[in-house]
Amino acid sequence: MKADIVTIFPDFFRGPLDHGITRRAQEMGLAKIEVHDLREFTHDRHRTVDDRPFGGGEGMVLKPEPIFECLETLGLASREQRLSGSARESVILLSAQGERFTQQVATELSQLDRIVLICGRYEGVDERVSEYLADRELSIGDYVLSGGELAAAVIVEAITRLLPGAVGNEASTRQESFTAQADDAGEGSAPDSTCASGGLLDYPHYTRPAEFRGMTVPEVLINGNHQQIRRWRREQALKKTLHNRPDLLEAVQLSEEDKMILARINRG
Ligand code: SAH
Repeated sequence: MKADIVTIFPDFFRGPLDHGITRRAQEMGLAKIEVHDLREFTHDRHRTVDDRPFGGGEGMVLKPEPIFECLETLGLASREQRLSGSARESVILLSAQGERFTQQVATELSQLDRIVLICGRYEGVDERVSEYLADRELSIGDYVLSGGELAAAVIVEAITRLLPGAVGNEASTRQESFTAQADDAGEGSAPDSTCASGGLLDYPHYTRPAEFRGMTVPEVLINGNHQQIRRWRREQALKKTLHNRPDLLEAVQLSEEDKMILARINRG
């Protein structure tokens, strides 16, 4: 997977992507991340990347020319090929007005050969970039950042850990919060392979010591009964999802056991 990041602050990315799994994935050659300085695609003395908005109003807007010129040097497939899926590439504009970036979108993007992330600044980016150059607009959440750089780093990190081989134990990325695929290992398998989130939030994790400053680890996790551990984890995942993100429950396929657990939780 190649990720090209287009930004007016290339130094921003020194650091955030150089740790942990993202770093390892780059060292292993699974991910190649290249940062492009938008100012290198300007032609005036001041290396101007922004201008005042037509129609008046606050702030400045990123000009289209440097962004178009930068992308033209990247050797991408045509927009038609990208949009039809005949090229496994996607050009993404980071935008608060974009479609929401989710684990599902991360999974989709992790299957591509290349993504290009265009980071906006100021009041945003000349709309012609979204209309004629980018394939989609993505937002990392319903809040406004000052620039697309943090959003681009979030997206690269979420995608990189999904690349085959990036995370030591691949089962662990299948069991996490939001991961939609249902678990097909049945009752009775080991607890660590039977609690895939299936769209729920993850269950709580504990490690040693079993007692810390009087705070104890739930007994069920210590007694080693796999069946009980599996049930407990499922119940906790349901509880947390109901409490923190009830909206997620609507999209989850609940088993009869899940429904009974939820009814019990609701009764208090
Ligand atoms: N005027 C815009 C906000 C511009 S913020 C509006 O009201 O929608 C400047 C830049 O930050 C944007 O162009 C975008 O690239 C980035 N940005 C801000 N919020 C973001 C979000 N939630 N997700 C992704 N990018 C975001």
